[in-house]
Amino acid sequence: LGARQVAYLDDLNPAQRAAVEALDGPVLMLAGAGTGKTKALTTRIVHLLNTGRARPNEILAVTFTNKAAREMKDRVGRMLGHAAEGMGWMGTFHSISVKLLRRHAELAGLRSNFTILDTDDQIRLLKQLILAGNIDEKRWPARQLAGIIDNWKNRAWTPTRVPASEASAFNNRAVELYAAYQERLRTLNAVDFGDLLLHVVTIFQAHPDVLEQYQRWLRYILVDEYQDTNVAQYMWLRLLAQGHCNICCVGDDDQSIYGWRGAEVGNILRFEKDFPGAQVIRLEQNYRSTPHILGAASGLIASNKGRLGKTLWTDAPEGERVRLIGHWDGEEEARWIGEEVEALQRGTRGLDPISPDHMAILVRASHQMRAFEDRFLTIGLPYRVIGGPRFYERLEIRDAMAYFRLAVGPTDDLAFERIVNTPKRGLGDKAQQLIQRVAREAGVPLLEGARRVVSEGLLGGKGLAELRRLVTQIDQWHDRVRRGEQNHIELAEQILDDSGYTAHWQNDKTPEAPGRLENLKELVKALEQFENLQGFLEHVALIMDNETEDTAEKVSIMTLHAAKGLEFQAVFLPGWEDGLFPSQRSMDESGLSGLEEERRLAYVGITRAEVICTISFASNRRVYGQWQSALPSRFIDELPEDHVEVLTPPGLYGGGYGAAGMTSGVEARAASANVYNSPGWKRLQERAATRPVAQPRESRNVVIDLEAASSFTLGDRVFHQKFGYGTVQGIEGDKLDVSFDKAGSKKLVARFVVAADQ
Ligand code: ATP
Ligand code: MG
Repeated sequence: LGARQVAYLDDLNPAQRAAVEALDGPVLMLAGAGTGKTKALTTRIVHLLNTGRARPNEILAVTFTNKAAREMKDRVGRMLGHAAEGMGWMGTFHSISVKLLRRHAELAGLRSNFTILDTDDQIRLLKQLILAGNIDEKRWPARQLAGIIDNWKNRAWTPTRVPASEASAFNNRAVELYAAYQERLRTLNAVDFGDLLLHVVTIFQAHPDVLEQYQRWLRYILVDEYQDTNVAQYMWLRLLAQGHCNICCVGDDDQSIYGWRGAEVGNILRFEKDFPGAQVIRLEQNYRSTPHILGAASGLIASNKGRLGKTLWTDAPEGERVRLIGHWDGEEEARWIGEEVEALQRGTRGLDPISPDHMAILVRASHQMRAFEDRFLTIGLPYRVIGGPRFYERLEIRDAMAYFRLAVGPTDDLAFERIVNTPKRGLGDKAQQLIQRVAREAGVPLLEGARRVVSEGLLGGKGLAELRRLVTQIDQWHDRVRRGEQNHIELAEQILDDSGYTAHWQNDKTPEAPGRLENLKELVKALEQFENLQGFLEHVALIMDNETEDTAEKVSIMTLHAAKGLEFQAVFLPGWEDGLFPSQRSMDESGLSGLEEERRLAYVGITRAEVICTISFASNRRVYGQWQSALPSRFIDELPEDHVEVLTPPGLYGGGYGAAGMTSGVEARAASANVYNSPGWKRLQERAATRPVAQPRESRNVVIDLEAASSFTLGDRVFHQKFGYGTVQGIEGDKLDVSFDKAGSKKLVARFVVAADQ
C-alpha cells in the first residue's frame, strides 16, 4: 500500500487505530460520546477495502438511519479517493432485512412482491380478527393488541415461542390472535414492520444452508449505535456473524435511549459471552466538545446507577461554560433563543460567527417545537425540522385545523372531505361518493350536499344519523363563530371534543397517541395569541406559504432522539422542567429505569454540542389557557456547578415583565440564579415553600402552585383541573391519595392539585 493510501490511518489515535487494524475476529468498541466511534467504524470499512480484505458487497454495515448510511458511504468515498460503488449492504436493520426477505420470501410463506403494511392497515386487520373472535373491541382495542404484538416481535417471539408467562395478555387471547394475524398476513402476502426482522431470523434458523451462504458472503459486519439494538436485531446479527465472527460493534451504554422500543443494554454485556475472545476497545479522548461541555455531561450521567462507567477527556481549550437560563414562560424562551441564534450568527462572546447550519434546538417532546417554529417564522429565521413534519403539517394538526376551517367557512370542501369520516363515523367511500354526487349535481358545497343527503334520507342506518349530527354540529360551530360571543379558545376545545376528535386519540393505544394529544393542546395554546379563529387561520396560511428557499442556512429543530450521532457547534436545550424533561411518566414510575433513560437522553443532548451549549427552562407553561408553574428539571441540579454559568433572564431590569406589572422578574431570577446557588434539590424545595405564589397574568388564568406538595396534610381540600374538588386521604412521598367528590378516588402527584378552601 502506498503512503497516500493509508494516510487515513494517521488521522486516528492509537486506540482507534487498533480498532481499525484488528480486522479479523470480534471487536467491541465501547466509548463515550464524541470519541470517534463512528469515525473509526467508517475508517475500518475503508481499510477493509483498501487492504483487499473485502470487496464492497462483502461488507455488512448497519447504521441507525438511512441518512447515516448515505453519509458513511460518502465519507468512505472521500477517504478512498473514489466513489464507494457496490456497497449494497449498508443501511438500517430494516432496509437490509427487506432486501434479504425479498430474496427468500418463499421460505417465509410469502411471494417476493409482498407489501409492507403501515400502522393503519395493521390496526384494521387486527380489528377484523378481534371482531371475528367475539371480543368487545371497546374494552380490548386493536391498538393495544398491536402494541403487544410489536413488543413480542422485538423479542423475536413467533406465536409458538411466546412464553407461558405472557399468556394472560389481552384477556388471554393475545397469543391466539397473534397466530391468526400472522396467518392472515401470509394470505395477504404482506408483512408488518416487525416482521421484517422476525422473518429473516426465522428463515436463518430454519434453513442453515441459506444462513451459511450469507455467512460466507457477508464476511465483515459492522454496527453503529449498537446500544440501541433489541433482542431480535441481536439474534439477527449473531446468526450472521457466527461463522466468521468478524463483527465490530460500536456503542455507548450511556446513550441507550430506546428502551421503550425494546432495546436492551444487556446486548452489550452479552457480546463478550457470545463472541469469546472479543477485543474490547475503549476510547477516551473526546474530539467534539469543549472541556466544560464534557464536564457538564459527565457530571450529569454520573447520577445514573446502571452504567458500565468510563472516563472521557479532551485537550481542547476550555471554552464556554454550559449556559443555564430560566425564563418566565415558553414564549419568552423561544424569543430569547431566536435572538441568541442571531447573535451567535453575528459572532458574540468572543466566539467566531456560527452558521445556523451548525446550530440545533433539541427538544424532549415534539409539541415543544411549535413555539420555536412560530417565533422563527415571525422573525424570518430559516429553520428545518428533522425527523418529522413541521408542526402545522402534522396529521392531527391538519385534522384539527380542518375542523376550525369548517367552523369559520362551512363551504370549505377540502376541509369537509378531510374530516367527514375522521374520526370514523361509518361514512366510508360509498357515503362520501354519494355526498359528492349530490353536491355536484346541485352545484353546492359538500356540506350542503350532505344536508340534502340527510333530509332526503339517501343514506341508511348509522351513517345517516352520524351525518345528520355532523351537519348540525358544523352549523352550530359556524353560528358561534359568526356571533363572536364565545371565547375562541373555548370554542376550539369544544369543537375538538364534540366532534369526537380528542376522544379518538384518547382511545388510541399506540405510542404516538400521547404525543398527538400534546400537539392538540399545543395548538389550542397557539390560539391564545390571536383575537379569533379567523386571525389564527390566516396566520397559519401565511406561515405555510412562507417557505424559505432551500439554499438558506437553517437552524435545525429536532427531538433529542433524532439527534443521536449528530454534532453541532451550538446546541440549545429548552424545556428542562420536571414533568417535561424528565417526562412525567418517567417520574411517576416506581423504578428508576425510566428516569435513568431520560438522563441518558439529557447526556445525548449536551454531548451534541461542540462549542456552546445552552440549557433553559420556563417557570410557567400555559396548558389549555391556564398557567401551570413548573420546577426546573432535577437534571439541572445534577449539573456540576463548575461547568455552568447562570445567565440573567432578559427583561429583568425594567423590561417586559415590569411593564406588565408582574412578579415574573423576581420569579424568573429566583428560578434561574438561585437554582444554581442551591446545592441540592431539597433546598430548592425549601426555598419554594417561602416563595410567593406567581400571580396570574390575566384574570381568567389560574395559577397552580406546583410546589405546594409538601404542605398537604390528611383531610385537606384540594382542587384538580380535571377531577375537580376532593379531599386528601393519604400521602406517600410526593404522591397523594385523593377522594374526589365527583371523580372518585385517585392517586396522583401532589403538584397537580392546589389547596382549595371549599
Ligand atoms: P457519538 O457517540 O455521539 O456517536 P462518536 O463516538 O461516533 O460520537 P464521531 O462522530 O465519530 O464520534 O466523532 C466525533 C468528532 O470527532 C467528529 O467530528 C470526528 O471527525 C472527530 N474525530 C474523531 N476522531 C478523531 C481523531 N482521531 N482526530 C481528530 N478528530 C477526530
Ligand atoms: Mg457516532
